[in-house]
Amino acid sequence: MLDLKQFEVWFITGSQHLYGEATLRQVDEHSQIIARHLGQTPQVPVRVIFKPVVKSPEEIYNIIQEANSTVHCIGIVAWMHTFSPAKMWIRGLQILQKPLLHLHTQYNRDIPWAEIDMDFMNLNQSAHGDREFGFMMTRMRLNRKVIVGHWQQDHVAEGLGQWARVAAARHDLKGAKFVRFGDNMREVAVTDGDKVAAEMTFGFSVNTYAVGDLVAVIDQVSDADITALVAEYTDTYQLAAGLESSGQRHQALRDAAKIELGLKYFLKDGNFKGYTNTFEDLHGMKQLPGIGSQRMMAAGYGYAGEGDWKTSAIVRALKVMASGLPGGNSFMEDYTYHFNPSNNLVLGSHMLEICPSIAKGKPSVEVHALGIGGKDDPVRLVFDAPAGPAVNVSLVDMGNRFRLLVNEVEATEVTEQLPKLPVARVLWKPQPDMQTACAAWIYAGGAHHTAFSQNLTTEHIETFAEMVGVELVVIDKNTTLRQLKNELRWSEAYYR
Ligand code: MN
Repeated sequence: MLDLKQFEVWFITGSQHLYGEATLRQVDEHSQIIARHLGQTPQVPVRVIFKPVVKSPEEIYNIIQEANSTVHCIGIVAWMHTFSPAKMWIRGLQILQKPLLHLHTQYNRDIPWAEIDMDFMNLNQSAHGDREFGFMMTRMRLNRKVIVGHWQQDHVAEGLGQWARVAAARHDLKGAKFVRFGDNMREVAVTDGDKVAAEMTFGFSVNTYAVGDLVAVIDQVSDADITALVAEYTDTYQLAAGLESSGQRHQALRDAAKIELGLKYFLKDGNFKGYTNTFEDLHGMKQLPGIGSQRMMAAGYGYAGEGDWKTSAIVRALKVMASGLPGGNSFMEDYTYHFNPSNNLVLGSHMLEICPSIAKGKPSVEVHALGIGGKDDPVRLVFDAPAGPAVNVSLVDMGNRFRLLVNEVEATEVTEQLPKLPVARVLWKPQPDMQTACAAWIYAGGAHHTAFSQNLTTEHIETFAEMVGVELVVIDKNTTLRQLKNELRWSEAYYR
């Protein structure tokens, strides 16, 4: 996965000349200490770069212009240790093109009751200095994240880390290229959408490539490379009977490895960050890619089936946000229900393409018939996902805007064997309950396809929605249908 340490956030402290040299030197020192501390906390996955304190409209404008044009700068953290009259910030904030986190902190945690004097007050003014800055951002209608707390407190590092992860994903999508092999699954509505609007909103492009172009790359794959990948399969997974080198179905495994390598070379060559394909357009391919797509996802690529480029992009974004965290992120589909009143469950899966990053234990490699696609029996990784909290995220094109929809769920152990359903599977209980969650999802127009995350939270998605300026609808333990329907109505008015 992506090493997030390649990215930096700039720590910018605002002040003014009024205070004199001595105070400003202290502001500078304190800011350096805070920036260094935050950059060293394990919760913050990116580099935190201290920038000299800004004291005038010109300095503010210049530093923001520099941040805009610095490729690896993914956002800025602003803090007003002292009072920085905010009209000085207007011109700078007007050109700001990177996400902003407003850190509302204070150098001293406690008031030094016995020693506090006017010099102390002169220096430690964020209680009002940050409000002046906050007013300006609100007055300018700028989205940002506000974090409140002493800089040594864990929740501050956690909040900054979470925001930085999201900023990295936003940055990663800017200019990202996604491949659409073939078009949308015929007649399907929710997977389609406005690719021009998506590029303007998120920064990624989706362009079509002929399956024949991919097949040409697959056909170039060498036998030696196939043998090496088959060996990797054998080392990494449990091989089903018949797939071993002397087995009757070994050729299917080699065919699948060849497809995976073709996909890998195609994506790498074109510098793509994800793709989508459709079983309705597999001309020249021997199998529908199963294990290949599963492993491309595990390597960090975005993927979704049936031409669903929106979910592919979201899967990629979540993978970037979650870089280095335990747990995984996958393309997912609400497959079928267990409407048992004492144990309501959703079974999540897909025909083949679930990412093994969410697997519990060692996946098994199996080959089985698949009625859909009309090709040879495809090879796939079969596994169960573990119990634990998760979120399902859907990106919906509402015509005049994009809506990000989140449902918090609780995954449960897969205790049954499902011997006749040889696909990867996840079981979950949606919040707040089955009836409310499913009805709310349907009212909100959520897709059957989602990105499923074990290691991100609603707050990541909320921050992301704010950074890119799209609507967010959350279904969680507090959701009631009446309230949700009102939110959807109000939202219609807001975006009209
Ligand atoms: Mn599907």
